[in-house]
Parts: sequence; C-alpha cells; structure tokens
Amino acid sequence: MYSFLFNNLRFQIAATVFLLIIEIIYFIRPKLRLLSSRFFSLLMISVIIYLIFDYASAICLIYMNQVPRWLLRFTHQGFIFFLQSTLSLIYLYTDLYNRNQKRYSKFKISFIACLYIFSIFFVIFAPMEYVLEPDGIYSYGPMADFVYLIIVLYMILITKNAIVSYKKGINKKEQLYIFATMGLWTIFGFIQMLVPKMLISSVGLTAVILLLFLSLENPSEYIDKETLAFNSTALKLMLGEYLNRRKPFYIINIDLEDLDILENQLGQDVRVNLLTDIRIYLVKTFRLKIYRFTNQSVTFILARRYFFRKEEILEKIQKRFENVWSIGETNVMLNAHLDVITCPTDFPYDGLISELLTFIQESHSYSTSKTFVRAVDSEIKENYERKKNLLLFLRQAIENKEFEMYYQPIFNVKENKFTNVEALVRLKNKTQYGFVSPEEFIPMVEKNGMIMDLSNIIFNKVFSFMNEKSLRQKGISHMELNLSGLQSVDSDLPLLMNKLLTEYNIPADSVNLEITESVAITSGYMLKKNMDELKKMGCSFSMDDFGTGYSNLSQIVKTEFEVIKIDKSLLWPCFDEKNKSLQNAKMLLETLIELMLKFGYEIVVEGIETQEQFEYLKKQGITFAQGYYFSKPLCENDFIEFLEKNNK
Ligand code: C2E
Ligand code: MG
Ligand code: MG
Repeated sequence: MYSFLFNNLRFQIAATVFLLIIEIIYFIRPKLRLLSSRFFSLLMISVIIYLIFDYASAICLIYMNQVPRWLLRFTHQGFIFFLQSTLSLIYLYTDLYNRNQKRYSKFKISFIACLYIFSIFFVIFAPMEYVLEPDGIYSYGPMADFVYLIIVLYMILITKNAIVSYKKGINKKEQLYIFATMGLWTIFGFIQMLVPKMLISSVGLTAVILLLFLSLENPSEYIDKETLAFNSTALKLMLGEYLNRRKPFYIINIDLEDLDILENQLGQDVRVNLLTDIRIYLVKTFRLKIYRFTNQSVTFILARRYFFRKEEILEKIQKRFENVWSIGETNVMLNAHLDVITCPTDFPYDGLISELLTFIQESHSYSTSKTFVRAVDSEIKENYERKKNLLLFLRQAIENKEFEMYYQPIFNVKENKFTNVEALVRLKNKTQYGFVSPEEFIPMVEKNGMIMDLSNIIFNKVFSFMNEKSLRQKGISHMELNLSGLQSVDSDLPLLMNKLLTEYNIPADSVNLEITESVAITSGYMLKKNMDELKKMGCSFSMDDFGTGYSNLSQIVKTEFEVIKIDKSLLWPCFDEKNKSLQNAKMLLETLIELMLKFGYEIVVEGIETQEQFEYLKKQGITFAQGYYFSKPLCENDFIEFLEKNNK
C-alpha cells in the first residue's frame, strides 16, 4: 500500500523539496518592499497551500473507500481553487512588474474579482468524478474543466502582456522568461491531459515558480556587488512604488564630498570600504534599506512609519559624522551632507522617476546651504526647474540648428593687427531665463549626448563663414575653435573636421583648436590620438584657460600645444586695487609669461579690458591679446565691419 502511495505521490514529493528550498531562500534574503514582491510572497504562499491540497487530495483518492465523501471533495476543491489562485497571482505579479508597479485600474480589479467569483462558484457547485484503479488514481469532471478554462484564460493574458511589453521593449529579457514559463506550463498541462494518472501539475507549477524566481525576483539584480547595498535599479523600482502609493515620504541622500580626494590619496578600496561601513552603520542602527545610487553617496527612503523618528535619525547620523571613520589604520573625518527631498512637496507623485533620480543626483549641487541637513528649498527647486526647461530648449535648438557664432578678434602684438579670432557659440533665441552662457549649456549638451550634433552645427557655421567672407584676405590667419572635454576625445572628430574642411575649402593650418587646461591634463590616450591626427592634417592647438585647472607644469610642457592662453583670473588680480597680494599676483603672472616664453610657446592673455593692462602685458612680451579692450565677441556682420575698420 505504501509503495502505491509513494508511486502516486513521487512527483509531489520532488516538487515539495524543490519548492521548500526556493521558499527558504526567498523568505530569508533581503527584499524590496515593492507591491509586485508582495504579490510574489502571496504567490509563494498560494503554491504551498496548493501543494498541501495536492497531497491531501491524492491521499484521499487512494483511501477513497475509507474517507468520507465530503473530505474527498473538499481536498479537490482546495486543490483546484489554489491552482487557479496561483495562476491569477502569476498574472497579477507579472503585470505589476511590467507596468513599473502602477496600480490596477478599477476595471481590472473587477475583472479579476469576477473570475474569482466564477471559480468559487464552480468549485462549490460543479460535480467531480474520482477514479481509483490498480495502476493509478485521477479525478475529472466539470468542476476541474471550468476552472481549467479560467486558468487557460490567465495564461493567455500573461502571454499577451508579455508580447505587448516585449514589443514595447520593456524588460525584454524578462519577457522571454515569462514566455518560457508559460511554454513550460503548457507542456506540463498537455502531459497531464494525455496521461491523467501522472499527477505532474505540481512539478510543472514548481518549475514555473523557479523560473520566475530566478528571473524576475532575482535578488542579485538589485544588489550592488561591492557594498552589498541595494543598487540603482532597486532604487528606481522602489521610487516607482512609493510614488504609486501616493503617501508622503522622504528621500535622504548622504552626500560624501571628499570621496574622490580620499580615493586619490589612499587608493581605490577606500570608496567601497567607506560606503560599506556607512551602509552597515545605517542598517544596524535604524534597520533602513540602503541604496547605492551615485558613486559618492548613499540613499535611503523614509516611509510614513519612520516619520515620528525622522529628526532623531537625522541627528544621530549627524553625530556619527562628527566622529571619525576608520580605513585600515587611518582615521578620517568625512565631509558629509544630508540632502532631504520631501515628496510630494518637492517632487509630485505623477512626476517621472527618471526626473526624480536626476533631482536626487543633482539636488546637492544646487544647494548653497552649508548646514549638515540640506532640505530642498525654493532656490534648489527653481534651479532644477531651470535646468529641466533649459534642456528642453537646448534639444529643440539643436534639432533646429538655432545657434549663432560670435567672433572675438585677437590682437597680434608683433604684427600690430588682428590676425586671429575666437569663435564663440551663442543660442540664437532668448531663453525664458535670458542670456545663457555657453559655459552653462555646453556641459548640459555634453551630458545629454548631443555634443557631436552641436560640433557639427558649429563647425559648419564657422567654416562656411570663413569661406564666404574670405577671412584670410581680411588678414585673419587663424580661426580658434573651442573643444569641450568630450568633443576633444571623440573618435569621430578628425574625420568630421577633415570632411568639413574639404567641403568648405579651408586650409587646415588656419584652424587652431582650444582645449582647456583641465581637459588637456585629465584626458589620456584618446586626446593624444586625436591631437596627433589633427596635427597631421595641419591644425594647431592652444591650451585654454591656463591657470584655472590643475596647473601641473611638468605635464603641460610634455603636451604638444603651440599656444598658451592665460586665463583672466591670473590677470585681473594684478589690477585690483583692493587686492592685498597685488604684487604677488604680478610676480606670478610675469614669471609664468617668462617661463612659457622660454619654453617657446606663443602667449595669449584673455580678458584684457583696459589700455593699462594691455601696455603692461606688452612689456612682458606676450604675443597675442584678447579682451573687451579690443572688442567684445561680435556677430558675423559686425565682425566683418570691425576687420574692415581695424585691419587696413
Ligand atoms: P573661453 O574659451 O575661455 O572664452 C573666453 C570667454 O571670455 C568668452 O566667454 C568671452 O566672451 C569672454 N571674454 C573675452 N574677453 C573678455 C573680457 O575682456 N572680459 C570678460 N569679462 N570676458 C571676456 P563666452 O563666450 O561666454 O564663453 C565662455 C566659455 O564657453 C568659453 O571660454 C569656452 O570655454 C566655452 N565656449 C564658448 N563657445 C564655445 C564653443 O563653440 N564650443 C565649445 N566647446 N565651448 C565654447
Ligand atoms: Mg576659448
Ligand atoms: Mg579661456
């Protein structure tokens, strides 16, 4: 008898062992409190109950003649009901997962409720037949048939959702897993139909759960491997969850300002070790979930149940940061700030998660407050709004090529005329914030992947202007073009330059490219490669903003620049009456000019605004002079007029 029992239950036993292992792993590891994860927990519970009924119904079938009829029916009712509830939960779970935790519509809730009412109705009232034969047991009848139809409907819905999401490109890999689970389930269903005595539906369901667990609920996808904090994917999902809950919450970002410096001084492990220590401190002290979102901060969310402890938590963290953190043998103080974002006051529930992430990332850079806790104030919000609107404006400007080039003449001291000119880009239309400097918008264009489009616009405009107005004949031997950090290391740059120079028939030796000192020093191989190629074509290079970057002299003399452009920040202090170290400023400037001349560089000084400054610099032997004293940057027509007047 026992071997008959075991024979009939062997698939269930295998499934139970498997399932128990998955359940233990699932329930003990750290979980995100996503709505979909709650459905997954329910799903896990539903499968367990289903398995218990599966055992019970099989045992009742085997002992059919001994057990009361109602018990036999009840175990089957439970078995069939929990099979359909498991499938409905798989549907709800995958649906929530795909829609980024967006809550269900009333229609969908009513629809699912109807399906539940139907299946309860059939489970209670429809008849069922039970078969006990020497070689096996099974049951059949309208109760099962009707509920199986509902299950097939769920499978169609799950597959349909997966197809729609796959086509939209949402979590494509995960959709393939969903197809696989449904495929697997169909195969098991068919086998069960063909060989009813095999009772393998529990094995099928376990396999489905295992696949879902490994793919969609995979814990390692949400964990940052280095610090074991939750990663940015997890934060994104949780923010979606919190916004959808429509209840107030705080996002707190601990911004660690000195991590870069510490990493430079003490090595790479410092960052990871410190972030890990901070994570462990926060988890142990407050039982919070910690996210590593940016490279120099840790983030956590305070939901409602933490509100009454908020001040206490922030104060405790502040106290902790007044103490040292140890890195091996060394103890360091960390310069930290807490940026507190309140939702929905600072960020609305219906805002985009990607925008909220940018907001978290950048809120500290907008803040001018020096206090430890920096709540988002109106100034930060305005700055954020400004940046957002400006980005929209810039996207459009790039699409419609709405930029203009201005030209600032550069005076050649030896030749006593304007032989060089610097091209400076301007937005053609006024933004709602008035004039926006390229110093502000170029980094934004870079960050948003549009810099090569802008380069294209700029180079086209400048070269066509040079060609049309025959600037060479008007005495201009060099056009100076600024290259941003990304532009200067873009591998397409030499090609683009070559193409446009040919197209507009411009000799390459009349183009001088300006690269800022900090970019020149921090960019490596790609910059050198680009410089070599462009030089081979005939272009020359200036080091822009000399004196504002790292001023690593030994490095600078190694790089192949023809011209050094000394920044106005080295010039202006020499003429500032209020400057107490005026003599030192002069000494520094004079020595630098002397040194650079000795190295054989040509020297431009930028930002010359008075005759006095110009006379003084001329005495120091500079080769070129640029500044408002000669002219502000001019639009095309004014520049031509300027040349005609001044370059006779
Ligand atoms: P930069 O290359 O150092 O350009 C010099 C800046 O100083 C220009 O500002 C110019 O208008 C300003 N300037 C020149 N002489 C004087 C003066 O006597 N007094 C004062 N107060 N200012 C003076 P602008 O046009 O706002 O450009 C700012 C920066 O934006 C530039 O600094 C450059 O780094 C960047 N930039 C401008 N145009 C372009 C461009 O087409 N491409 C790239 N990649 N960067 C650009
Ligand atoms: Mg420049
Ligand atoms: Mg400059």
